[in-house]
Amino acid sequence: MLPLLIVAFLFFTEEQPEPAVEADVVLKGATLYDGSANPGKVGDIAIKGDRIVAVGKFTTKGKPRVLDCTGLIVSPGFIDLHTHSDYPLQAPKTNANFNYQTQGVTTVVTGNCGSGPVDVAAYFAKLEKIGVGTNVIHQVPHNDVRSKIMGNSNREPTAKELKMMEDLVDQGMKDGAYGLATGLIYNPGTYAKTDEIIALAKVAARHKGMYASHIRDENSGVLTAIEEIIEIARRAGIRIHISHIKVSGRNVWGKAPDVIAMIRRARKDGIEVTADQYPYTASSTSLSATVIPAKYREGSAKDLIKRLDDVEIGPKMKKAIEQRIEAHVGGKSIKIARYTKSIGWQGKDLFTIAQTEKKTTLDIVLDITRNGGAQIVHFGMSDEDVRLFMKETYVATASDGSSMLPANTVPHPRSYGTFARKIGRFAIEDQVISIEQAIRSASGLPADILKLPERGYLKAGYYADIVVFDPKTLRDKATYDRPHQYSTGVKYLFVNGRLAIEEYKATEVLPGRVLRHESK
Ligand SMILES: [Zn+2]
Repeated sequence: MLPLLIVAFLFFTEEQPEPAVEADVVLKGATLYDGSANPGKVGDIAIKGDRIVAVGKFTTKGKPRVLDCTGLIVSPGFIDLHTHSDYPLQAPKTNANFNYQTQGVTTVVTGNCGSGPVDVAAYFAKLEKIGVGTNVIHQVPHNDVRSKIMGNSNREPTAKELKMMEDLVDQGMKDGAYGLATGLIYNPGTYAKTDEIIALAKVAARHKGMYASHIRDENSGVLTAIEEIIEIARRAGIRIHISHIKVSGRNVWGKAPDVIAMIRRARKDGIEVTADQYPYTASSTSLSATVIPAKYREGSAKDLIKRLDDVEIGPKMKKAIEQRIEAHVGGKSIKIARYTKSIGWQGKDLFTIAQTEKKTTLDIVLDITRNGGAQIVHFGMSDEDVRLFMKETYVATASDGSSMLPANTVPHPRSYGTFARKIGRFAIEDQVISIEQAIRSASGLPADILKLPERGYLKAGYYADIVVFDPKTLRDKATYDRPHQYSTGVKYLFVNGRLAIEEYKATEVLPGRVLRHESK
């Protein structure tokens, strides 16, 4: 009797047709990568309003718009955990975030390296007023919190100051930030001891937020810096995220396996550790953070120059800068990205500039410092270390770039190329990782890291943040010499069910939303 029932049931379910789906748009015949590590499968997607309503095989009713996606890949829209778009997203034109849309990105995270707006509610209100091309998630930025309470001072906070900083973090979390972010090589965060960060991380943890960090050292002290963030996780009871993971500087090339071993051990011990990475061997930051030791960077820009001219401190400071330049291959591994005082220096390395100007590289660095500083691109990583980190399943893709428009600067190409490069070059061409892993590292994984609800996967009921791309043409075009070039290959991009890119072109609508973290 029972087996018969089962057979009857199977027969019944086989024969029972799924009810037809009501949809506005149907993507037909694509290879679907759903954001998990599953291999791609041919199928369809139905979108109704701002949601995905069906995935796989189904029938539709009514007259949905049908987009033939044969030969194309459909995946969840990419989530960039690490951008510095806080201010460009508040400005006209760059708010469209087109250099990210063309990479398939539908959500960006700001507040990174501890820098960005502290008043989260005001920031979100501004974004909602001007409109944005992608969704935006924010983190409470430690450097700006600290500077608001203590300025740029090299000391520990008093009990009262610490309480004021905790209150700012608490308010930011209440207003919808996803966590706390630090940048421990930058001012003034670099002056914070571990205990201060633990105290602030505890506040974020209370709201079920995360802690993301540009760790204290990515060079010879990288393992100690990772020990520190793991200690923060333990003592604050918070999940941790290592921003733009790397070993930077020739003296530490080959150290990636040691870093990986340490993280794997912590994960085995039950600590939630994740990381993100941009697929390049060069990094980018300010010249001062790269060559001027933190102890000389206290106070204002004027204070710094006063120290340079001081008969006691000046020579020591110059010697320290000189040593750092030496460690950067005599300035050959540092290229100027943005320096408005001398546009001709942009795109050239410090060594070459010194030769043409008939000065020492130290003189060039001092000139730039006296003139307010510069942004640089630093060629400090080995290709092998980059590939080793990429293969780790907890490492998400993130750009560390920002929304921008073509200009006369020579910035790092990552703002235009990161996601297309990771999938197009590293997965499809070089096969360093599988396509499913490359897509997961840009979608499901960052959603899991954030604990972001209803995004990051192709699932019925989830928001329709979807990218449709041609695997043959999805490539980064931005190079170190010519960085202001959009990536190619994204045919359609849906953000909250609305088309931001259609037939490879921007639609100029602003379908992004502010995504607020819900603490309780
Ligand atoms: Zn950083």
